[in-house]
Amino acid sequence: MKTHEVKAYGTEAANAPLHSLNINRRELQPHDVEMDILYCGICHSDLHQIKNDFGGAMYPLVPGHEIVGRVSKVGDHVTKFKVGDLAAVGCIVDSCGKCEYCEDDLEQFCDEGVTFSFNSPDKYLGGATYGGFSETYVCNEKYVLHVPETLDLASAAPLLCAGITVYSPLKHWQAGPGKKVGILGIGGLGHLAIKIAKAMGAHVVVFTTSPSKVKDAKRLGADEAVLSTDPDQMKKYVRKMHLILDTVSAKHDVNTYLHLLKPDGSVVLVGLPPEPLEVSAFSVVSGRHSFSGSNIGGIAETQEMLDFCAKHNITADIELINIQQVNEAFSRLQKGDVHYRFVIDMASLKK
Ligand code: NAP
Ligand code: ZN
Repeated sequence: MKTHEVKAYGTEAANAPLHSLNINRRELQPHDVEMDILYCGICHSDLHQIKNDFGGAMYPLVPGHEIVGRVSKVGDHVTKFKVGDLAAVGCIVDSCGKCEYCEDDLEQFCDEGVTFSFNSPDKYLGGATYGGFSETYVCNEKYVLHVPETLDLASAAPLLCAGITVYSPLKHWQAGPGKKVGILGIGGLGHLAIKIAKAMGAHVVVFTTSPSKVKDAKRLGADEAVLSTDPDQMKKYVRKMHLILDTVSAKHDVNTYLHLLKPDGSVVLVGLPPEPLEVSAFSVVSGRHSFSGSNIGGIAETQEMLDFCAKHNITADIELINIQQVNEAFSRLQKGDVHYRFVIDMASLKK
């Protein structure tokens, strides 16, 4: 298959800095859309992957899966997009399209496994898919999202992963009026979860390890904020929560949070600590509690989330950076020093 070279930023080995490099994008297939990338968010999953936290990293690795751009070319059979349209790509760029899960708009559970926007086997070119830290993206239109025109584009980029990853479980576990919903870990995912759960009508309680975020949580829309390292504050929430969404990226004690659930409540894990988490029998047996998880969301639900966020005027609080600052951004993300999502202005790649 014909390809063409574009500029990108990537890394050659775990813990090696990212640098400028060239990658190949495939020539447009009949259902493909090509977009010029305007903005790309930096998710903690990009950090896990460049560090090879989960194993299986394929180098050179070009991260980035919160991609917003403008359509520059369309294949002959494309119907959803035309040149000049805003467009976005999140985590999923391909799936089998035939299994019961793909047919049910749950591509994230595809029987054959989804193709992720980066560090996934590339069905077209072999090797790995390359993410959004690049000039362009080429993707079948089926997996490309429409970005509502009213949203600020840079601040909307994080919706493509962080947004859908919290929207999907909040909806599935029915966050809404009358429900006390805890949000654990206030980073990229957590701060959007506060805004989305609040817009769904839930009573939102934040649990954070960072004293500075206790105050900020209210500005973000939380009804209550708890410093989770203070046992006296935590005691007041035992048996109070219907649902707790756990976005923490590192090893932590989930039993503490299972004890905050009302009977039949659930702690839903979306964070991906690389190490196993221990669950004590009594944390789930007492109170018929559930400890469960959720993985991004399907394409139709991602579009639904974007439209929901446009309706409620929800975007991320971001720090806009140039691609040349990406290594510094990753080391700040590692330390939890970001309010609340880094987004790269991809125009800087042309410099
Ligand atoms: P982030 O911006 O780094 O936020 C993570 C937050 O977790 C931190 O801000 C901090 O919040 C808390 N935290 C970090 N280390 C902690 C520790 N040792 N103990 C307790 N709390 C700690 O990360 P993110 O981009 O939101 O991503 C969060 C996690 O979700 C990552 O593991 C990421 O890979 C994963 N993820 C999963 C999916 C999925 O589909 N399931 C999708 C995207 C991302 P406080 O300061 O408030 O305590
Ligand atoms: Zn992500």
